[in-house]
This record gives sequence, C-alpha cells and structure tokens, in this order.
Amino acid sequence: MTRHRKVFALVAALLLGAPGPAFAWSNHGLLTYWTFKDTAEVAAAPDVQAEPLDAFLRDQEQAIANLLEAQEIWARANVPTYPPRPDELAFKVDALRDDAARRKAFAEALRIAPNTRFALFTQNLPGFSRSGAKTMPFAEVSTLREPAFSMMRFFRLEPGETVPALLVLASSSDEPDFGVDINCWDDSPSEWGKRYKFGKLPFGNPALDFATQAPFHMGFFHQSWLIYKAAPFVARTYPELRAHQFIGLARLAFRTGHPYWGWRFAGMAMHYVQDLAQPYHASILPGVSTLRMIATNTVAMVGWKGPKDAMVVLASNRHLAFERYEALLIYRDTAAGGKSPLIQALQAKARDGVYPKWSDLYLRDVVTQEAFDFGEALSTALLAAFPPKYVSDPSYDFGASGGSGALISEVAERTPEQRAEIEGAVVELMGHFGAHSRNLVRALGSTKERND
Ligand SMILES: [Zn+2]
Repeated sequence: MTRHRKVFALVAALLLGAPGPAFAWSNHGLLTYWTFKDTAEVAAAPDVQAEPLDAFLRDQEQAIANLLEAQEIWARANVPTYPPRPDELAFKVDALRDDAARRKAFAEALRIAPNTRFALFTQNLPGFSRSGAKTMPFAEVSTLREPAFSMMRFFRLEPGETVPALLVLASSSDEPDFGVDINCWDDSPSEWGKRYKFGKLPFGNPALDFATQAPFHMGFFHQSWLIYKAAPFVARTYPELRAHQFIGLARLAFRTGHPYWGWRFAGMAMHYVQDLAQPYHASILPGVSTLRMIATNTVAMVGWKGPKDAMVVLASNRHLAFERYEALLIYRDTAAGGKSPLIQALQAKARDGVYPKWSDLYLRDVVTQEAFDFGEALSTALLAAFPPKYVSDPSYDFGASGGSGALISEVAERTPEQRAEIEGAVVELMGHFGAHSRNLVRALGSTKERND
C-alpha cells in the first residue's frame, strides 16, 4: 500500500468515527442571544411581524429567481470542488403553481432537504416571555429525532404576530441542525439526494441521517497538502455555499420589506459561521500533526492496530466532551443571570475590529484558520482539565455511553492550574464566536439600510 493510501485509510476512519449526533455548539440560540443582547444592530432593531415562508416566496418570486441564479454563478467561480447545480433545479417564476410546489422548487434550487419545516417558532430564551404562547413539539420544527441531550424548547408563532428581532435571529441560529442538510447526496436514502448531484457523501455513514449534514457544517480547509492528496474527499465540505445562500436571502428579504425572513435567514447563515469557529469542525484531528497521523497509521499497517483505533475513539470523545462542557456552562451561566466570563467573552465587542472586513473568503481565511490554529491549545486544555476517562481512554465511548452530565463538577475537582487551561480555552473560543457573529450581521448592511 502506498503512503497515500495509508493516509487515506486513517483519515477515512477518523471521519467515520466522527461523533454523529453532535451538532457542534449544542445550543446556538442561547449563545446568539447573549452575543447580541445589548447590541444596536439587533437588540435595538425594530420588532418584526412573523409571516409564513410561502408569503415571502410568492411576493418576491422574480427577485428570488434572479438571486439564486447569481448565487449559482458565484458558487461555480468561488467554491473549490463545487459540484454545479443541475440546470433543471433552477428556481423559475410560475405564478400559477400552489404554495407547496413553489416551496419545493425553492428548496430544490438551494439543494437543501425539501421537507425542511421552516415552521414559525421561537425558542425558549431568557427575557422573552410571550404570554399565551403555545409550546411546540420538536417534530414540528425539525425532521430529525430529538437528541437525547437536548434542553431546547419551542413556542408556536402565529402569522402576523409581532416579535423582537433578537428573538427571531437567536431562535433560527439552530435551524440548520433541524434537517436542512439531511440526505442531499447521491447515496442518500432520499428522493432528492440523487437529483442534487452533490456526489456521494464525502465521509461518514450515508445510512445515518445526521451524519449526512456534516460536510455542510464542517470546513476542512487548512490540512496539510498531503492529506488532500491522499484523501481528496476531505476537501469536499460546503459551509461556504450555505452561508452565501442564506446571507443573500437575508439581504433580499430585508430590502423588500420582509424583515422577519431577513432575521430568520440571517440566523441560518450565522449557524454555519458559528459551527466553523469550533476547532473540531475546522480540523480533522485538532492537536495531532500530520506526521503523527501518518506514523500511527503506519504502525497499524504492520499489524499494531491499537494506536490507530485509539486515535479515532479519542478524537470523537474529546469533540463530544468539549461540546457537552460548553453546553452545561452556558445553561448554568444563563440560569445564574448571565454574569460570567463566558458570557462576557461572547459580548466582548473590542475584538470585532481585529478581523478583516467580511468577504466571500471570511469563512475560509479567517474563521476556520483561527479555529484550526487553536486546535492544539484546545486539545492540550482538554487533556489537562477533563477526567482522563473522557479524553485519554480509548476503551470508553463518550457518545455511546451518554457521556457525563456532571462535567462541571468533575472539572471543579482538578487543580486551579488545570481548570484555568480549559476555562481560558472556552473564553477564547466564545470570543471568536461572538465577534464573527456580529461581523456577519454588519455585513448584512446597517440597520438603517435594512429598514429603508
Ligand atoms: Zn451545525
């Protein structure tokens, strides 16, 4: 077997072993809420009136057709490894079709799952008590099974109801995890996958629905050239496409007097940006050099499989344990009223101007580069602060065992130095998360432009 084939096998195993039902940050809604809670751009923006997606699509059919055509031309020119959208999926004006047919055509032109709910909903977020609002089951918001570890709650929104912009934006920042990117591949068990021509699922198990969304929610843009040469599928991740699509739709909706959908699409675009700020979504194996990956794989080739199998399990365990820890912290700090280093880091605006202005390359050159570069520090911090069972024991499977709900108190038992490492890493990453989220909203145009 050539060296390239060996690396290919290891990378494939790592990505197959990637945690399935983990959706990066476990609750984008809460993090987005705290990020924008006191900002002029969102918290002080005018309230908006909820309207069904069909009303927006009907009203702006021609403008949407023009936009999606321009986006396709952009993607072909700007997204590396982009598989062109088949022409027959283009969104065309047809005033005579019914709402369901128009909505299906819209989803197909975007090449997202056509059964995406696009329900009118809000999440349960602090400071917004909508009196009389009815709760809404998970299944009416998402086409996926409710994750075992989920603290999200939903409320129904009625057409015409007035809601704060911040509530719409934060609620929809979780939406891409509700089935938008499911089964869009040639080998997906869906009616639409074969027609979308994205090719086969680049990595992961095509039979597991949640695994099929990963290549849209991860961006492996900064691995060594050797990895791409040996395992070209690693380059087939498309979060840039999704962010571009939903940013364009948000701008169009704001411009044409549909601010509810402006914020809603903005929240969806923001999800992809936030996912990519997580080092485990921007790197195949944070903290492990290409050389070590190859060495580990080489010993596996001569029969000593232990290190390679261990690497796969450990990568998954660290990814999941870190996200669980962050989720527990944000719920704890929210319940305590929102004064914590984590929430201060989300809100630290001084950081925003440190980054270049938003552009088509922002996700690739700024967000994922930063997340990739931070992988080693995060991995070191996890090893220092988490119980060794979760991050260093390949015989333990964090995901399959349900993980731990007591991570905060377990970390509290470590020495102050050990704790400081992981606390510092979380604060740093929340700083990235907040700044990139705000920079995205600024890229949508000023509040004034949006309201004109
Ligand atoms: Zn996601």
